[in-house]
Parts: sequence; C-alpha cells; structure tokens
Amino acid sequence: MNNQIIEKIKQAGVVGAGGAGLPTHVKAAATVETVLVNGASCEPLLMSDPYLMEAEIDIVILGLHTLMECTGAKKGIICLKGKHHKALASVQKAVAHDTTGRLDVFVLEDFYPAGDEQVLVYEVLGKIVPERGIPLQVGVVVSNVESLFNITNAMQGKPLTHRYLTVSGDIKNPMVIKVPVGMEVSEVLEYAGGPTLSDYRVVDGGPMMGRVLQDIHQPITKTTSGLLVLPPDHTVVAGKVKDPDKIRRITNTVCCQCTRCTDLCPRNLLGHSLHPHKLMRVMQSQELDTEIAKEALLCSECGICEKFACPMMISPREINAQIKKVLMAAGVTWQAGDNPPKINNFRKNRAVPTSRLIQRLNLGKYEAHAEYGGEATSSKVTIPLSQHIGTPAICIVKAGDKVTLGDLIGEIKEGAMGARIHASITGVVESITDGKVTIRA
Ligand code: SF4
Ligand code: SF4
Repeated sequence: MNNQIIEKIKQAGVVGAGGAGLPTHVKAAATVETVLVNGASCEPLLMSDPYLMEAEIDIVILGLHTLMECTGAKKGIICLKGKHHKALASVQKAVAHDTTGRLDVFVLEDFYPAGDEQVLVYEVLGKIVPERGIPLQVGVVVSNVESLFNITNAMQGKPLTHRYLTVSGDIKNPMVIKVPVGMEVSEVLEYAGGPTLSDYRVVDGGPMMGRVLQDIHQPITKTTSGLLVLPPDHTVVAGKVKDPDKIRRITNTVCCQCTRCTDLCPRNLLGHSLHPHKLMRVMQSQELDTEIAKEALLCSECGICEKFACPMMISPREINAQIKKVLMAAGVTWQAGDNPPKINNFRKNRAVPTSRLIQRLNLGKYEAHAEYGGEATSSKVTIPLSQHIGTPAICIVKAGDKVTLGDLIGEIKEGAMGARIHASITGVVESITDGKVTIRA
C-alpha cells in the first residue's frame, strides 16, 4: 500500500468508471498479486474503453503501473476482445515495449458477460471468486480502463472532471465523446447531431444493464458509460419499462420451470448456488424466508436470463432484484457453504456469443464502429454531489462563488467513505439544489 498514491487518487475524486462508482482510493488500498484491466467492453455498442486503449494506451498503462505499485501487484494483465482490432494492436505494441516485464495481454472471447468481474477473473486466471465475494479474496483487483486513465491524471494533480462515453442508436453521428461531468444528456445528444427520430427513449448505459431515462434533462455523471437512442417500442426499451407488479403476475402464471434461465446463468455456470428457476417458484409461493430465496443475493443482474434465455419472455432478473431488495432491507446475508464452487462442465458451450445477443436484442443496425467525436463543451453543468458508492460529498461552495475548472466543490464527509467532486467548467455557481451544484460559464 502506498499512502501517497492513495491520497492523490482520493484528492482527484476518482471513482470506478465501469459500474456503481466505488471510490478508487478504497480499491487501491488493497494488497493483491494481480491487477486485471477490464477492457472487455462487453455491453453491446459501448466503445469508449476500446477507444481509450487504442488512442491513449500510454496513459492507461501509466495508470496500471501506478495501481500495481500501490497494491503491490507483481502482474498487470490487460484483458480485451480480439474483435477490437485497433485497440488490441495498440495494447500489444505498448506491452511489447514495456520494459518491466510485468505486463501481459489476455485476448477474451466475444461473449456476454465477459466483463463481469467474477467471470473475468475465472477466464483469465482460472480462479473462482467466492459467492457474493469480490476479486480481492482471490488476490486480484479488477480495474476499468478509464479508471486507470484517471489515476494517471490524478498523479499529475488533475481531478476527474470529464467522462468518455458512447452515443449510439438512432442518432445522426454515433460517436465516442469526451464530456464535462454535469453536462445535460439532451446537449450531449445534440453534439452528436441529435436523434434521428421524433419519438425516442434514451438508455443510460448498455442495452443489457442500462436503464431508461425518465427525461433527457439529467446530467452526465462520472459513471455514465453510454447513451443509446432507441424507438420507444424497441426490444431493449420495452424490456426495461415493464411494471414490476405485472412482471410478478406474469411470472406466477407463465413460468413453465424449463430451467433454461439456470442453465445459461453465468454465475450458476461458475458454480455459484444461484438457480433462477427456483427463485421463480419462491416468487410464486411468496416464501421469502427460505434458503432458496437467499440465492437471489448472488444474482449480478446481468440480464442473460431475461433477454436471452427465457422462452416465455419473462424476467428472472427482475424477480431476483425484487427478492434481493426485500432481503437486504431485512439485513439477510449470504452464508457460503463448506464446499467451494465447482465450475459447470458445460460452461464454455453455454456462453452467449455477443453476436447472437445483438441479433436477439435487435441492435444489428447500430453496430457500426463509433469514431471519436472530440470533446464537447457546455455553458452550464449540473453536478450531483453523489455519483459514487458511499456518502454524498459535502458542498463547499455557495451560490455566487466563482469557480475554475478542477476546483473542489464537494468534500468527503469526515470519517465516511465517499469521493470528492470538482468543477467541470469555469464559471459561477448558480444554485445548489437537490444535492446538485449548477455552474454557469
Ligand atoms: S427460463 Fe423462463 S420459463 Fe423457463 S424456468 Fe426460467 S423463468 Fe421459467
Ligand atoms: S440476471 Fe439472470 S442470468 Fe444474470 S446472474 Fe442473475 S439470474 Fe443469472
């Protein structure tokens, strides 16, 4: 552990770019043998990580070395798919030139969810992360590509103020774009030429795990990885806006217990005790105080069961999420059994190829490579004080204050886990409302 590095990452407000936004200084405080760089970019259409590995690989590798130094890792492995040819060539060249001999490249097969941390750790290292555990328990830290990019910036005293993301779908110019945190979604869409439909919905994130935005006047955050513009009746959108009560009712009448959701569940295939078809019975019987019900805690909500496996078009993922919510609110925890998980022998054959998923999700026409479209600017940003796991930051500015790009506007609450927040444009603080700081240039 290197306190100086950890402090610099903390000062810069770096959070995990790939998911829920765990403050990176927390992850960097671990001691591990290996750092895996998660360049799987496994959600269809999202391209910002391949772009960064292609265009900014030196910065990413500097960040990797920094994280390895901090965690004591002897090995750093950059994991990406062979289909991202330009990114792969750039990574292979950079690793070949690295003189430390501690870096490696792992070419992943093109299946979903290759980027699930637990799946990635098994694919690359053959280690099974314990049920409901984290890679740290098997001596691994998994880092997103953009997080490493941001770690390098942090070492140079540059705070996290911008985000790389993909704009795709029914948009005039699909692109990877760099935007200030807090820029409004509608403005980002306009930068990409605007939607090509008059009636559309926007998915924040990937088609599998993203969510449909209720309105497009929301800000981009440190964890926004993509914006997908799709027709309101598109398969991806329709699957995300189902009423939870309706899903419960359909489950109770339609599930035929075929077990296909369990057969294809990536966590079940890793040997974890997760059987979504049994959880469907739990929902039918409403017996939430059983051992089977607790299995919902093991679900990663990857969506394979819902979007690919189930022939009846129902959603074990949603059912699991509902059960999980109830159990977690009641403080129920998972107790792993005495025997370690055992890999399912059919795992390789049951992996879902991304090409088939794209076909199933009706996304084929959006697959064209999204080029880099430059850096967008905005005359107004609205920056949430909570964009991370942990306690929201404490606002340290007031309306009327002048701020410069990179100035601190939100501080971590004393003794709490959280992340600092910085101004993403130069201007004047216009208001602080509902936990968001608005700055006008
Ligand atoms: S795949 Fe669908 S129908 Fe089959 S057991 Fe799972 S939820 Fe029920
Ligand atoms: S969402 Fe479905 S397929 Fe994915 S981990 Fe949960 S139960 Fe398994």
